[in-house]
Amino acid sequence: MSQVLSSSYLIDLANEFGTPLYVYHAEKIKEQYEKLQTAFQNCNARFFFACKALSNINVLKYVQSIGASLDCVSIYEVKLGLKAGFTPERILYTPNSVDFAEIEEAKNAGVHINIDNISMLEKFGTRYGNSYPICIRFNPHIMGGGNYKISTGHIDSKFGISIHQLRHIERIIQSTNLLVRGIHMHTGSDIKDVNVFLQGLEVLFDLAKHFPQLDFIDLGSGFKVPYQDGDTETDVTLLGERVAEAFHAFEQETGKRIEVWFEPGKYLVSECGYFIVRANVIKQTTATVFVGVNSGFNHLIRPMFYESYHRIANLSNLHGSERIYTVVGNICETDTFAWDRKLTEVREGDYLVFYNAGAYGFEMSSNYNSRLKPAEVLVKDGQALLIRKREVFEDLLKNQIEVL
Ligand SMILES: *Cc1c(COP(=O)(O)O)cnc(C)c1O
Repeated sequence: MSQVLSSSYLIDLANEFGTPLYVYHAEKIKEQYEKLQTAFQNCNARFFFACKALSNINVLKYVQSIGASLDCVSIYEVKLGLKAGFTPERILYTPNSVDFAEIEEAKNAGVHINIDNISMLEKFGTRYGNSYPICIRFNPHIMGGGNYKISTGHIDSKFGISIHQLRHIERIIQSTNLLVRGIHMHTGSDIKDVNVFLQGLEVLFDLAKHFPQLDFIDLGSGFKVPYQDGDTETDVTLLGERVAEAFHAFEQETGKRIEVWFEPGKYLVSECGYFIVRANVIKQTTATVFVGVNSGFNHLIRPMFYESYHRIANLSNLHGSERIYTVVGNICETDTFAWDRKLTEVREGDYLVFYNAGAYGFEMSSNYNSRLKPAEVLVKDGQALLIRKREVFEDLLKNQIEVL
């Protein structure tokens, strides 16, 4: 049975902790993790939670406890992961545009390193030779992903080393003795079409022949979750079957049984999250009816940044008659969460909830307009635990130095 928090429970949490409020449901994360494990049971699969989606230390500890590994894009995420109890062997560091010192810091921490740039590869090989295995991030030149901002595998993307630079990579390996244990791609986010993954896999298997010491192929992520009613998610069961077939075929051909790695972010933590706000004002204009809420894109930027869709419900009036609203925030810019959205009648003071708010929600929040960041609550074993305090005015001044 799918794990959901009821509307009345969400109202209780809003009353207890105030709004705006992020709520995460631990058991839903576990449910998603188990779905992946089941789907890929015939593969030698490992899942690295892409913690840039949601990095509260308690969420990391929980993900650690259910057995997943961790994908990190900065050295600070690596440090958070270590603090949360992940052993270095369960951490993969996949940076881009970082300086060599940061890569060396990751090496000193003993985590898996994914290198996405020829010059870094050459530097790493020159300095460390075969003493520290690495993974190479390739750009497979495949267009995938929900929209341009989250597509990372196409020809104009800054990510990865082009597959057409293979010869150059081989030269570096030959002259430095670099030990390549893994090859990686990540083509973007919100990829519904299983074929995008399979195309990528085909490209990686072609490359695999050039790396005799390979232990794993990392297919990154991009698993889509349903945001709208009637939306579907990536068919992980089908993908699991196809990936298993492909790896078995590779094993038959080469005699090597290698692992397949994935880096799910959204898939693990999107649906576990609820963002609760309060309607401050209802404003009738000549063109529409606005609901102005006590939040904005400073707290949930996805609709403004990616034009993403989040389901919204009026928790305080679940059975009211439906009307059409434009739901906006309080930031002094166009700050629209949803246009022409059918909601049960909204009154000032009502609580609204945004669903699918676990991934890239709090994580991308800011203090724009000198507004305070919301609190975060983790619901686990039926208990609501405050895992981040709501900010207070003093937090805005915390690192400022008053010199005048
Ligand atoms: C962001 C990111 C992910 C996670 O993507 P989702 O769409 O949230 O699953 C995985 N791997 C890398 C390298 C990323 O940058």
